[in-house]
Amino acid sequence: MNIAVIGTGYVGLVSGICYAELGNTVICVDKDPFKISTLQNGGIPIYEPGLEELSAKNVAAGRLSYTSDLQAAVREAELVIIAVGTPPLPSGEADLAYIDAAALEIAEALPAGAIVAVKSTVPVGTNERVRDLIRSRTDAPFSSVSLPEFLREGSAIRDTMEPDRVVIGSESREAAEKVAELHRPLTDKIMITDLRSAELLKYASNAFLATKISLINEIANICEKVGADVTQVAEGMGFDRRIGPAFLQAGIGYGGSCFPKDTRALIQIAGHVEYDFKLLRSVVEVNREQRFNVIRKLETIFGGELRGKTVAVWGLSFKPNTDDVRESPALEIMRHLVDVGVHVRAYDPVATPNFRSAFGDKGVVWCEGALEAAAGADALCLLTEWEEFAGADLRQLQSVMSRPILIDGRNVFREEDLAGTAFIYYSIGRPSLN
Ligand code: NAD
Repeated sequence: MNIAVIGTGYVGLVSGICYAELGNTVICVDKDPFKISTLQNGGIPIYEPGLEELSAKNVAAGRLSYTSDLQAAVREAELVIIAVGTPPLPSGEADLAYIDAAALEIAEALPAGAIVAVKSTVPVGTNERVRDLIRSRTDAPFSSVSLPEFLREGSAIRDTMEPDRVVIGSESREAAEKVAELHRPLTDKIMITDLRSAELLKYASNAFLATKISLINEIANICEKVGADVTQVAEGMGFDRRIGPAFLQAGIGYGGSCFPKDTRALIQIAGHVEYDFKLLRSVVEVNREQRFNVIRKLETIFGGELRGKTVAVWGLSFKPNTDDVRESPALEIMRHLVDVGVHVRAYDPVATPNFRSAFGDKGVVWCEGALEAAAGADALCLLTEWEEFAGADLRQLQSVMSRPILIDGRNVFREEDLAGTAFIYYSIGRPSLN
């Protein structure tokens, strides 16, 4: 199939490269000239394990190319995939400006018979809106398909190549079948729905996962008060097949470019039809509160006086194996620390450049290594569970710190890791280790 993918972010780039890997001819388009020149020169503008190699392989095979010329790419395409961002507006609603702009541009070059698929996460009715926008600019017949994306950053290639399911929403059975055929090599769990159900299903999935995270975080908070261990509670819950073990890791809450934005957007979608989504509002509220757990623990340790203390932060990305810092809990935690006069020494294996652009430099020393960040610190806060941190030598760590205080916001360390150290250790929902 000849495919044009509009937007080379985490979703568009991974999908485009994976479709090429399946033997399709793919052209990935972005309006950001820096991204396109990086890609044309063999680089990858995001951090995603394995992606650079997979891109190089498919470029060399002649199946994959990159351009900033959207119309040239669309002109040859049988399938045009829109994978541009849908960031939140201040109200929480999804901003559809990039979707609309892409639709209007696509319309100028869309060949007759093409399929236009929206992979971006979009509010209910957006595929119809895209269809109508394109129709207002061209007489060429085409079909609309909603193709929601479920990949996770950090394991995006595997998620794309071995998806749990592929959902295809369409008004046209023929178009849906063509798109299904494209995905047949990946899975036999292909579900064809109407446009609106596909759109809502994506938000509903993220709302469910966010709910699971907020639920276990509240259970962790209760564990701290009643003397239970959330890891044991979660393990026991997870054995129940109706519950399952995934997304039951207590911590400082979810972040990233999807859960925070999609939960808020779904509250707005419900609000537009005069439905008050009370449960999801609480999920969002619990999540926002949870990151301050780290601050509260620091305040307890230092008797409420944080000013002048040096605090090391390990982990800035919203989760490991990505350089994405959008809505990372570290942003708000560090903002608070800096605001109350803490000297912050921060380290992340890959996300520091993105974090610096989002956060600025005030009050922070950016470090090149985990031990360097910890050097001379009164306390260390682990905010992202990078594998590198789990393997840290805690005796060595203790020796470089001013005081051996460790706040593990992701429950990375176990009792045996701490044995033989003098660490005053706080984690989330595991009071027996504190
Ligand atoms: P992103 O911000 O990383 O990338 C979007 C890209 O689109 C940018 O490179 C931007 O320059 C480009 N773009 C915008 N308008 C354009 C235009 N008119 N022409 C060409 N390029 C254009 O976004 P992302 O994280 O890849 O997310 C894209 C969508 O997929 C969002 O709706 C998001 O909610 C959804 N999604 C994201 C993930 C994820 O893990 N990141 C997972 C599932 C779904």
